[in-house]
Amino acid sequence: MSNQSKIKTPIPEQDPNIRNKNFLEVSLGYTQELAKEEASRCIQCKNRPCVEGCPVMVQIPEFIKLVAEGDFESAYQKTLETNSLPAVCGRVCPQETQCEELCVRGIKGDAVGIGRLERFVADVHLDEVEHGRIEGVKLVEKTSGKKVAVIGSGPAGLVCAADCAKMGHDVTVFEAFHTPGGVLVYGIPEFRLPKVLVKDEIESLKKLGVKIITNMVVGKTVTIDDLKEEGFNAFFIGSGAGLPQFMGIPGENLNGVYTSNEFLTRINLMKAYLFPKYATPVNVGNSVAVVGGGNVAMDAARSAKRLGAENVYIIYRRGEAEMPARAEEIHHAHEEGIIFKLLTNPVSILGDENNIVKGIECVEMELGEPDASGRRSPTEKKGSNHIIDVETVIIAIGSKPNPLIPQTTDGLSVNRKGCIEVRSEEGLTTVDGIYAGGDVVTGAATVILAMGAGKAAAKAIDEYLMG
Ligand code: FAD
Repeated sequence: MSNQSKIKTPIPEQDPNIRNKNFLEVSLGYTQELAKEEASRCIQCKNRPCVEGCPVMVQIPEFIKLVAEGDFESAYQKTLETNSLPAVCGRVCPQETQCEELCVRGIKGDAVGIGRLERFVADVHLDEVEHGRIEGVKLVEKTSGKKVAVIGSGPAGLVCAADCAKMGHDVTVFEAFHTPGGVLVYGIPEFRLPKVLVKDEIESLKKLGVKIITNMVVGKTVTIDDLKEEGFNAFFIGSGAGLPQFMGIPGENLNGVYTSNEFLTRINLMKAYLFPKYATPVNVGNSVAVVGGGNVAMDAARSAKRLGAENVYIIYRRGEAEMPARAEEIHHAHEEGIIFKLLTNPVSILGDENNIVKGIECVEMELGEPDASGRRSPTEKKGSNHIIDVETVIIAIGSKPNPLIPQTTDGLSVNRKGCIEVRSEEGLTTVDGIYAGGDVVTGAATVILAMGAGKAAAKAIDEYLMG
């Protein structure tokens, strides 16, 4: 008997006024009872539109049915058939514009909480493995005699490496940072994605026999040509889009101005939030301006609040409806006391006599008619200049791929946005044997798309090596 409730079973969360002072996960996850209750809202419809909405086509009704029946491990295994990182995707995928947007229950009420259930089954599984009640992954024999180099250990690289290893290839991941995981460890904060989950995924990868070499900047420490000489037969470039963009306004070089990339890396990877245990603090002061309206801006603003800033402003030149951030992140930011300065655009950052930020000058904007892409362009309201007093400014207006690898690899073409050009859906680049996928090809996008690209490339690499 299906649960007729029009409302998604609420998920327990930390109180906003408590969580905005700590870095523990916001959402506490479903209990078994709540998960079964939510799973029984799925009506198991025949045409399964939710599956079409999922970029990796998780068999959603099937796994949800297993949750409703209380067979959580089988439900987990079902998600794993097409999604290698369900604990991550259940937490960070924009379900509201993918699977849940197409859910039939969403027509007359809330969609089924597919993301919440995906996260639930993954968490139950990890708990079982941790307590030794079920076995994790096993080492796969390297039978093919072929060596694959994966550059970058974000979701694209992790998935490609795992799949290549499962196909019997000898895989080495080269990562520039000292910790593997890509944006999952250096970008998305602990309160949205606990790093222990990513660590578990990396450990599983190692158990499959994948070697991970950190502090290795391909294009600088070693080139793809060097690796070819070392005997690597195929390559996957999953180096992401970590090069920050600037606004090009006066004052961007003042002390107290960060790119979101630097700010979040200092907090997540260098553990600024654990000061004084870690001697790498970030002093944000009392008032912080974050420029941008995506997930990155929300993460930076919510992190700044947790570091102790009283006033944290999101400065965004369009309205809230146009914000690219996930609805849930915007909602959580409001709850935590982030101040939204919408239809507002910075024109300069102001410093004191010591070149330390003391304010940000902004203008008001208004939205015009939609352009060819359907987006309403903002235009400046004349004479609306005003100053917001802040001690820190964080620029979160987007990023693009670093040119290092294309610049040091003969024949590897990029498009005008600096993204690596691919000749096939599986990510074959302009050089035979070199594949690419994730943000380095699409520009800044999503975890699930990066994973999908890693998976597709692994299959093509296997065919290239064995065909
Ligand atoms: P990345 O995750 O960027 O990984 C690339 C890796 O390659 C990095 O570890 C990097 O150090 C390494 N690398 C780069 N150059 C080299 C080199 N020359 N040699 C060796 N290694 C190199 N997406 C969502 O779906 N939901 C969200 O909620 C969400 N929130 C986000 C929040 C933030 C703060 C950010 C920055 C992004 C967010 N995204 C979100 C986007 C998502 O994280 C990315 O689309 C995804 O991580 C891209 O995966 P990737 O594997 O292509 O690259």
